[in-house]
Amino acid sequence: HPEKWCEEFNHFISQCLIKDFEKRPSVTHLLDHPFIKGVHGKLLFLQKQLAKVLQDQKHLNPVVKTRHERMHTKRPYHVQDAEKYCLEDDLVNMEVLDEDTIIHQLQKRYVDLLIYTYVGDILIALNPFQNLSIYSPQFSRLYHGVKRASNPPHIFASADAAYQCMVTFSKDQCIVISGESGSGKTESAHLIVQHLTFLGKADNQTLREKILQVNSLVEAFGNACTAINDNSSRFGKYLEMMFTPTGAVMGARISEYLLEKSRVIKQAAGEKNFHIFYYIYAGLYHQKKLSEFRLPEEKPPRYIADDTGRVMHDITSKESYRRQFEAIQHCFRIIGFTDKEVHSVYRILAGILNIGNIEFAAISSQHQTDKSEVPNAEALENAALVLCISPQELQEALTSHCVVTRGETIIRANTVDRASDVRDAMSKALYGRLFSWIVNRINTLLQPDKNICTADDGMNVGILDIFGFENFQRNSFEQLCINIANEQIQYYFNQHVFALEQMEYQNEGIDATPVEYEDNRPLLDMFLQKPLGLLALLDEESRFPQATDQTLVDKFEDNLRCKYFWRPKGMELCFGIQHYAGKVLYDASGVLEKNRDTLPADVVVILRASENQLLQQLFSIPLTKTGNLAQTRARITAASRSLPPHFSSGRLKVDTLEVIRHPEETTNMKGQTMASYFRYSLMDLLSKMVVGQPHFVRCIKPNDDREALKFSTDKVRAQLRSTGILETVSIRQQGYSHRILFEEFVKRYYYLAFRAHQTPLASKESCIAILEKSRVDHWLLGKTKVFLKYYHVEQLNLLLREV
Ligand code: ATP
Ligand code: MG
Repeated sequence: HPEKWCEEFNHFISQCLIKDFEKRPSVTHLLDHPFIKGVHGKLLFLQKQLAKVLQDQKHLNPVVKTRHERMHTKRPYHVQDAEKYCLEDDLVNMEVLDEDTIIHQLQKRYVDLLIYTYVGDILIALNPFQNLSIYSPQFSRLYHGVKRASNPPHIFASADAAYQCMVTFSKDQCIVISGESGSGKTESAHLIVQHLTFLGKADNQTLREKILQVNSLVEAFGNACTAINDNSSRFGKYLEMMFTPTGAVMGARISEYLLEKSRVIKQAAGEKNFHIFYYIYAGLYHQKKLSEFRLPEEKPPRYIADDTGRVMHDITSKESYRRQFEAIQHCFRIIGFTDKEVHSVYRILAGILNIGNIEFAAISSQHQTDKSEVPNAEALENAALVLCISPQELQEALTSHCVVTRGETIIRANTVDRASDVRDAMSKALYGRLFSWIVNRINTLLQPDKNICTADDGMNVGILDIFGFENFQRNSFEQLCINIANEQIQYYFNQHVFALEQMEYQNEGIDATPVEYEDNRPLLDMFLQKPLGLLALLDEESRFPQATDQTLVDKFEDNLRCKYFWRPKGMELCFGIQHYAGKVLYDASGVLEKNRDTLPADVVVILRASENQLLQQLFSIPLTKTGNLAQTRARITAASRSLPPHFSSGRLKVDTLEVIRHPEETTNMKGQTMASYFRYSLMDLLSKMVVGQPHFVRCIKPNDDREALKFSTDKVRAQLRSTGILETVSIRQQGYSHRILFEEFVKRYYYLAFRAHQTPLASKESCIAILEKSRVDHWLLGKTKVFLKYYHVEQLNLLLREV
């Protein structure tokens, strides 16, 4: 009884400590008292504890807070559990439906720490920016298999609904989490995995432990601190949890999308590199192993340092980095990586940090201004040593390239700029491939045991946690890709929530007033259509060696003549896009080069010749067989002789032969640009998502200051508008999220109205019999389907369990 306890506590203070105070003292009065000053810290601590207890109570038993409110609201039409239900839990129950009312409602709930709210079957999650004690196993139990209206809205309830749907209808499910950067998508994804592992009670404790470690491991490599979010996902993640037909978890699989590799070599002001670099540096520093990995102790590696070297101090002194390093080692071990593999991973990371330290200087004798050399040979040697490659070959690959002209190979020196580009391309390729390898390895280690059940027999719940919409002061190619991906997810949401639903009513002969919504299809077309969409134009321009970022923006302007694109005056290299989530100004400098993403074949050759097996594997691609750099260059010369005439008569740049990120894709996707890879990834993602029944979680960021309990109305309004929440509320008010074929319905709920020996037809009449017998109200029947609200399905499933 925390409230009573609070009263007694105050009473005690007033009696024992403050003789002067006649009245019950408030905390602020007390703070000035010399004795109380001493116990101030303790008091604050107690207050916090008390707040937590109160909040727990509110979640466990909302009666504490809402009895009064409930007495004054109309009875909901579908609720039986009158004790716990609160009308405001679902915006669909609201009579007045306008933007201000919805915002007010969300605000009221937020300051009460009720961060979750339903819109029918969709969950709105406001980021609390503080730890809430509502995610313990006790809460998982509370939300397990009960009617949704039995408890306040919760992310566990959404995970539970997906799980129950999967088990009930034997169908794959897909939970799509969206929201802007820092809104809480990744945290929500963790919580969903946590609840699903709880539900899919495998006998196999180890498997559950493994699954719970996966996110931490992948996020150490794929997340970073940005201006918006200290743990921002710099890749898209689709995690499929696989279950047996009876609902026991049996494995997991991750697909990763579009890792922001450019972050390895450069970060915007105030941002950081991927977490793992800091963890490993701090971890090895404390284990006194930096020298083993050839990492300099006195000066921070350039990729993780700022100009002042302050970061060095930060890294080595930060206890949390060291602890994270230990946690990552633990994750590797639990998931099943061998010590040898982990050691190789560290070597590659250390190799990347050392590569970043290699500098180039122009050799400026009279005739050779173009040449470059490495003034700090030590860095180059360190990199070569830790990557088990030849330092001479590494230097050659960085400072020269070969050009094939009329069947002859000419070795040309690299300028300082070109050498730096090759160095950075090498680091990006190493990191990108290492990341993909880790993900693939996790997938192998977490695949279902074929003796129990094959993946084909099972079902899965996929959880999509993709980087959120971004709008920085300077936005580049990375933001463009991220925002197009978000545009696509929004389109998917619109399709499911609005378009498909309305089409279904029409087809089934049901009369429903169409809800108007903002369709972002024209915008997606502007990006993705061929040959005149933005990405196709970018690819086309990337093929011209003479193209510049300026000609690229000119090309966009000439071809993208629509209201979503504009070019701001006086900013030659910029262009603006009106996204669904707001206007973004993009800076095109460097976009062409980022899109080409060339990785010289020489680099591939030397890395592939490494004595480190993992490195060999990462670069084992069919371009070359074996041999050293000189032999390979000779082979390329020979190959160029057999090329068609229009190739051999001109200059063939060797570095355009090899442009691939994923080893397995090299054979069929040569010359691929980032834009085409991006398009391919997006297609791949959608193809996975569309097979499942979708569930949506919309994360909202209540303020830009990451402050608890602060609710910025304008900030929330903008997010609600851009994601069409108001329209979603109205369509959900009218709509029926479950549409089940008569045949399927009768098969599933047969027992609710018929005896075992009866064989009812899969007809409308049989459906009506079942629905009437089950006392479900307000359902609809179309020509071939039963239309139900989510709580109808809950009700039917509960009845089925009782039969
Ligand atoms: P991005 O698109 O940049 O990856 P995101 O939407 O994934 O952003 P998160 O990393 O999930 O955002 O959340 C940002 C921060 O907000 C978290 O690091 C955490 O501090 C806080 N946060 C989010 N959700 C919760 C929650 N349910 N409870 C406590 N804190 C939370
Ligand atoms: Mg995230």
